[in-house]
Amino acid sequence: AAEEAGDPWRFHAGSVEAEVERELSLLGELDEAVAAGELEVLFQPKLDLRADRIVSVEALVRWRHRERGPLSPDLFIPLAEKGGRIDGLTFYVFDRTIEALHRWAAAGHPIVAAINLSARLVTAPDFMAALADRIAASGVAPEALILEVTESAAMHDPAGAAAALAAIRALGVRISMDDYGTGQSTLSYLKRLPLDELKIDRSFVQHAHSDRGDAVLVRSTIDMAHELGLKVVAEGVEDEACLAWLRAAGCDLAQGYHISRPTSAGAVLELLDQQQRA
Ligand code: C2E
Ligand code: CA
Ligand code: CA
Ligand code: CA
Repeated sequence: AAEEAGDPWRFHAGSVEAEVERELSLLGELDEAVAAGELEVLFQPKLDLRADRIVSVEALVRWRHRERGPLSPDLFIPLAEKGGRIDGLTFYVFDRTIEALHRWAAAGHPIVAAINLSARLVTAPDFMAALADRIAASGVAPEALILEVTESAAMHDPAGAAAALAAIRALGVRISMDDYGTGQSTLSYLKRLPLDELKIDRSFVQHAHSDRGDAVLVRSTIDMAHELGLKVVAEGVEDEACLAWLRAAGCDLAQGYHISRPTSAGAVLELLDQQQRA
């Protein structure tokens, strides 16, 4: 080490190594957490604005790390993608979601559940084939499943993404475009991808009732989506004013803290029981 003392790159190289080491150890811990069933899958309800009922949920993965506390999926999903673990993690979320769908259906609530599909999985033929097999073996109707994909899924291989999504959609699974409005070439993807639903990103939704510009964008997105035969979900609905505005604008579904935080399968069951009694 002494002979390296004068090397100007030493400190920098060391910190990159430390960073890589940190990521590798976190990746190992992620493997263990998946194997031990320590990742938690929560479900956030989506409210049908016309029926005023919860008709579907979105599965969102959680990692309560033993030492580090709760880690955001925005942190460990990219790590899993980079480390080649995203297929296993997605199947883990899929399996928990299927269990929950069976549980809710057995209690008399045949609702729909969405899972998030990382961009790179959409164009991974082996993954998509395995997913189709799992759906067929799940005992759940494909119509009870939605796959949420982002625009970046289509960015590097639009034709490949469109073909892969069309194949799985032919089974009856629905496809939703997530975080709509935040990506690039949005309009061309809308035309090319086989879609059923469009989720307007919360950065537009949150101020739609108070900001003229956002109001115009959200309202015209809803109208355009309807013209294309798509259902529209508004995400990040945090208050009643926002919800009322969306209802008036003809939005189909709403999701956000004002309706419910992401919560356990059991808590969703209680919400569904409650709404049935009401
Ligand atoms: P997303 O798919 O856009 O999910 C919505 C995020 O917004 C979730 O964050 C949710 O908890 C949060 N959210 C919901 N309602 C509100 C609200 O009213 N206000 C605000 N401020 N936030 C709200 P979360 O759970 O931290 O997930 C972050 C992202 O991580 C997700 O964004 C998704 O891209 C990714 N992710 C989560 N679970 C999975 C998964 O199983 N697979 C993959 N590939 N990605 C996942
Ligand atoms: Ca999503
Ligand atoms: Ca989203
Ligand atoms: Ca997001």
